[in-house]
Amino acid sequence: MEPTQSAFGNFKGREDAIRSLRCMQQPWGCGRSIPPSEMECWPAADIREYQITGLCKTCQDEVYAFMEQISE
Ligand SMILES: [Zn+2]
Repeated sequence: MEPTQSAFGNFKGREDAIRSLRCMQQPWGCGRSIPPSEMECWPAADIREYQITGLCKTCQDEVYAFMEQISE
């Protein structure tokens, strides 16, 4: 999968992680590899998000829960 160029920033290893279908290494992500069969089950929006952030769906959910918490 090709990483989307993004204003989100180029964290170290982001593009490599996306190309090899891995989640970003800690502390940003969990670092696991994502089975293509799992990714097929993700909503299109989450796959787009992965191409931008390099975070798996589980980590995306955590990040957004955290961001909602601090914005309150
Ligand atoms: Zn993850």
